[in-house]
Amino acid sequence: MNRPLDRTHDPNLRSWVTSANQPDTNFPIQNLPFGVFHRRRSAEPSRIGVAIGDSILDLAACGKVGLLEGLPEPLQAACVAPTLNPLMALGSWASSALRDRLSELLRWDERQSPPEANILVAIAEAELLLPAHIGDYTDFYASIFHATNVGKLFRPDNPLLPNYKHMPIAYHGRASSIVPSGRPVKRPQGQRKPPDDPAPSFAPSQLLDFEIEVGCFIGAGNELGEAIAIEEAERHLFGLCLLNDWSARDIQAWEYRPLGPFLAKSFATTISPWVVTLEALAPFRCPAFSRPETDPQPLPYLCSEENASWGGIELAVEVLLRSTQMRAAGIETIPLSRASFAQMYWTVAQMLTHHTSNGCNLRSGDLLASGTISGEAEGTQGSLLEMTRRGDRAIALPSGEQRTFLEDGDEVILRGYCEKEGYARIGFGDCRGTVV
Ligand code: MN
Repeated sequence: MNRPLDRTHDPNLRSWVTSANQPDTNFPIQNLPFGVFHRRRSAEPSRIGVAIGDSILDLAACGKVGLLEGLPEPLQAACVAPTLNPLMALGSWASSALRDRLSELLRWDERQSPPEANILVAIAEAELLLPAHIGDYTDFYASIFHATNVGKLFRPDNPLLPNYKHMPIAYHGRASSIVPSGRPVKRPQGQRKPPDDPAPSFAPSQLLDFEIEVGCFIGAGNELGEAIAIEEAERHLFGLCLLNDWSARDIQAWEYRPLGPFLAKSFATTISPWVVTLEALAPFRCPAFSRPETDPQPLPYLCSEENASWGGIELAVEVLLRSTQMRAAGIETIPLSRASFAQMYWTVAQMLTHHTSNGCNLRSGDLLASGTISGEAEGTQGSLLEMTRRGDRAIALPSGEQRTFLEDGDEVILRGYCEKEGYARIGFGDCRGTVV
């Protein structure tokens, strides 16, 4: 299930793109995440790029000057497409083969000089777009700590519903309102009815929140009616990004029964622009979350030995905030939360397997989100709803302001990275959005 470790993971590799050799870069040569871009304020067509240090390797430009020659034809064609969907559709053999070629191309080697053609664009000069056409988007609820924290606010005696430990819970989200990092997020209007109000009203949401999540892009899809077995699940996953599931808690509280989230979520979802492949994440795999002995074992279709041993991902995620007043005072950001993706109750393979278990087909470029990533301890909660106990405990900002929910002008920044002794640090880059 896990992708093998190979020469592309060698921590001693250096690139001729010197910014990629800085120890604090998100994008060393061992990462090679994929995105879609064009130069800012240009009429250039959008095309696939690979982040390397502070630059983007332009795959269309590489194709033009013959640097992709020798790769299988369909893979060469996928590299010069305007979105990642064709590359995702080819499956994991293609992302592995391309990674190997790109690692070779970007490697510093005293015996050969770097390509002479102009195949780099500075990230600072690029506008990063959505990496794929996202046909469908599903949002899971895979952190038992998040589910318990939220459940406690609504049902103090009975926070977890009886199905939680038996299957990954999810709802179908809205793909059309997924936006790339940096796009402003408009505060939604909606219907809400606070408990003490006699009747509902329609107004801008007063309880606007974020949720820090991981997004998983589907690689090769499955046919309608054909479930994906857990042993095969990761072969159908292309890679991961960071995802902010903006949530209007007042709209949500009034609308969610009986059919779940709707307009409280569908106004915007922000994703980070770089897709970190499962190949890049191979050194950071870890056992699936260890359930207490007293928890039920999942049904056999959600279990495999490999999933138990390697189904987790050691990925640290952080949320930072910057208000308008902080910006004016020159204060950078304040960290709000830090958690580990390894603490999720359900693995990405279990989410994908469960999703297709009824025969539902997933298509290349579809996006599965993990659900809010929260841990058990204070400081590890991935939403304001949890951090402020539904607005009861305000957070003090360094500007002297207080926050229970988001104000206009607040910028939310998500970050994620994998670190492990003996391997290069793999960063995801920022997922940013400002409330307007
Ligand atoms: Mn969510």
